[in-house]
Amino acid sequence: MTEEILVNHSAHETRIAVVQQGVVQELHLERAASRGLVGNVYLGRVSRVLPGMQSAFIDIGLERAAFLHVADLWQSRANSQSTGHATPIEKLLFDGKPLLVQVIKDPLGTKGARLSTQISIAGRLLVHLPQDPHIGVSQRIGNDSERALLRSRLQKLMPEDERGGFIIRTSAEDAPDAELAADVAYLRKRWREILDESQRKPAPSLLYQELSLTQRMLRDVAGEATAAIQIDSADECQRMIEFANTYVPGLAGLIRTYNGERPLFELHGVEGEIEKALARRVDLKSGGYLIIDQTEALTTVDVNTGGYVGGRNFDDTIFKTNLEAAHSIARQLRVRNLGGIIIVDFIDMTSAEHRDAVLTELKKALARDRTRTTVNGFTTLGLIELTRKRTRESLAHVLCESCPTCAGRGMLKTPRTVCYEILREIQREARQFDPKEFRILASQDVVDLFLEEEAQPLAALGDAIGKRISLQVESIYSQEQYDIILV
Ligand SMILES: [Zn+2]
Repeated sequence: MTEEILVNHSAHETRIAVVQQGVVQELHLERAASRGLVGNVYLGRVSRVLPGMQSAFIDIGLERAAFLHVADLWQSRANSQSTGHATPIEKLLFDGKPLLVQVIKDPLGTKGARLSTQISIAGRLLVHLPQDPHIGVSQRIGNDSERALLRSRLQKLMPEDERGGFIIRTSAEDAPDAELAADVAYLRKRWREILDESQRKPAPSLLYQELSLTQRMLRDVAGEATAAIQIDSADECQRMIEFANTYVPGLAGLIRTYNGERPLFELHGVEGEIEKALARRVDLKSGGYLIIDQTEALTTVDVNTGGYVGGRNFDDTIFKTNLEAAHSIARQLRVRNLGGIIIVDFIDMTSAEHRDAVLTELKKALARDRTRTTVNGFTTLGLIELTRKRTRESLAHVLCESCPTCAGRGMLKTPRTVCYEILREIQREARQFDPKEFRILASQDVVDLFLEEEAQPLAALGDAIGKRISLQVESIYSQEQYDIILV
């Protein structure tokens, strides 16, 4: 199935949609503000060595000098392995010395960025450590023997002249040799470029940045199925073509600028899809719908029939709704980028044949997912449990925050509940304090209730404690918020 990739680029944000046959299947988003400097490689210049603190300040061209501790200086550690003691920083660095460094912690407030001289460059499957001749494997990959196998496979793929090492990332778990070799070649090329630039450019200079979203898309998402890549910025289009020419030449010819009148994402209905991908409810064509709830531990998907289900074709209607839901669920997991444990509650099916067919359909639909999913069959309670590898954060986590009014519960105490809470609190305070009057500051809804339906309990409390109780609307208060003031 061919796909089209749409890129909406601006200085502050890049959004990417992968569209198959007019239907959005994936959304990727990156904001300039959250990109940070971690991973950037600079040719810096030592501005001050502090032997007492075994650290140094390095000018990397930022407003504030960056900080390097001897523990992050591989030259010092390398010596300690051969001689048994680390070389003091003042023996290795001097003021004005140019130094290749990488940011390991972003600057924060008055603190400068934190640096390391141990460079690591992340690829899709591997992380390259050009100064450390060692092959590591992510602990999250399978068992010991699987890890050993991956390590020996990579060993065989490494060029003879390689002096550095690699870490095999979790994403390499099922990668064929060709993909591993391509990543090795890509990372070695990047490292050579960094070294070349460090010879040519003056210190301080930026030599390498982690790939931007558009570059990662070209490397990881676009491929044989991609028919076209459209981007609404001519400048970024040029940068993408340059990157593609160097790293993925087959794609360069597919990239073109969109400069139509209507915004690209509007034209292809992507804005609407983003909006829908944040909603709890997903409507199905057959009249049924899904309810998707994301909690910290897991995601649940509940399949429902819409309203009346005809009597005679009852089983058929349910079967059809479940089949449609299977496709919709697979797509929603991708679009929303939901990871971890996912529990699906299909509508109960009496026929084992129907159940098998729905399970098969779900697996088939999930097979198109770039991110790996594992489907277990129906549990004894009739639920389907599946896991989807966690990659980036889910769309909702990138775009939304927990609601401050309900603190993420998705529910508010009713005005009546708040009224009774207030009555109890006044009763408690009346035992401790002796004001002339209690004044209730609350939302309009709560005050209205006290003026009408709950006027009686309020008056009774006033009589019981022998105090005047007055009401005041605070329009900025949410339904749950209130204050009791002693006057
Ligand atoms: Zn809320």
